[in-house]
Amino acid sequence: YLAKADRTGVEVYDSARDVNSTSRIGLISGLRNAIEQGEIELHYQPKASLADQTVTGVEALVRWNHPTRGLVPPDEFIPVAEQSGLMHRLTDVVLDLALTQVAKWQDQGMTVPVAVNVSFRDLLDQTMPTRLAGTLERHGLAPELLTLEITERVLTADMDRARITLQALCDLGVRLSLDDFGTGWSSLRLLRELPLAEIKIDRSFVSRAAVVEEDAVVVRATTRLAHGLGMHVVAEGIETAVAWQAIKDMNCDTAQGWHLARPMPSGRATEWLSERLLGRVPVGHP
Ligand code: C2E
Ligand code: MG
Ligand code: MG
Ligand code: MG
Repeated sequence: YLAKADRTGVEVYDSARDVNSTSRIGLISGLRNAIEQGEIELHYQPKASLADQTVTGVEALVRWNHPTRGLVPPDEFIPVAEQSGLMHRLTDVVLDLALTQVAKWQDQGMTVPVAVNVSFRDLLDQTMPTRLAGTLERHGLAPELLTLEITERVLTADMDRARITLQALCDLGVRLSLDDFGTGWSSLRLLRELPLAEIKIDRSFVSRAAVVEEDAVVVRATTRLAHGLGMHVVAEGIETAVAWQAIKDMNCDTAQGWHLARPMPSGRATEWLSERLLGRVPVGHP
């Protein structure tokens, strides 16, 4: 199980899955360093309303700017952070970076809500809501500007403890989103019981919904269900104009994906946003 197939079907060695390897141990100490040395950075991917293409916010996506390997994607180090006790520290850094950026945009006259991914480990830490409240206050930001995305896949172990944290976060005024919806097991129970503001339908359904009727059925039914429960629906992974139109016709509220924009480093994201939010590119231009 140490190798997994990459996109070309070639088996590649995945050090993140190798619990005992020296390369994994190197990865852990490297990551610990990275967190303290400021090698962690965020890219921002915009989201827009499907109805009129106005920008509704961004998702912050973590990258490790490694001195020799370049930008390391989250899939290669989040599992390591989760297994090695570094996750809390990493999440604190990510939240601080994201909120610093939102405060900067606010100073430039742009209100940009941000979504940050949190791991299940973060939800087992019951001091997290209080620490987050402190961070929001320090940046002078309304909690409503922050959405926390929780992957459905990880919400299975120790639900009771996670539920307490989620309720505290909700009471704080932070929005909660169920990410990768449709890829887990207990979706309906979670939808019914958790204080969710939003669901994000997984890319695997969204990307095929324009061409595969079964995927379209899932997207339509999920959207109806979520709307019936008073939740907002985001479709992730919209790569083409055809997918955009199809997903719009299926009544989803918000779109995210390469068709609108790729994740961008903060400089380019700021340019992209200011062109649209400060009026240089007409509203409705993707
Ligand atoms: P996610 O939260 O579902 O994020 C969406 C992923 O899909 C991102 O990958 C994004 O770059 C990619 N994506 C966006 N639009 C498209 C598209 O149109 N087509 C395709 N093919 N892909 C698209 P990324 O940045 O590699 O992140 C992967 C996952 O890592 C995220 O999935 C999230 O679960 C996790 N992650 C990212 N940042 C953080 C973080 O700060 N903390 C934690 N705990 N997890 C994070
Ligand atoms: Mg996400
Ligand atoms: Mg997602
Ligand atoms: Mg996903």
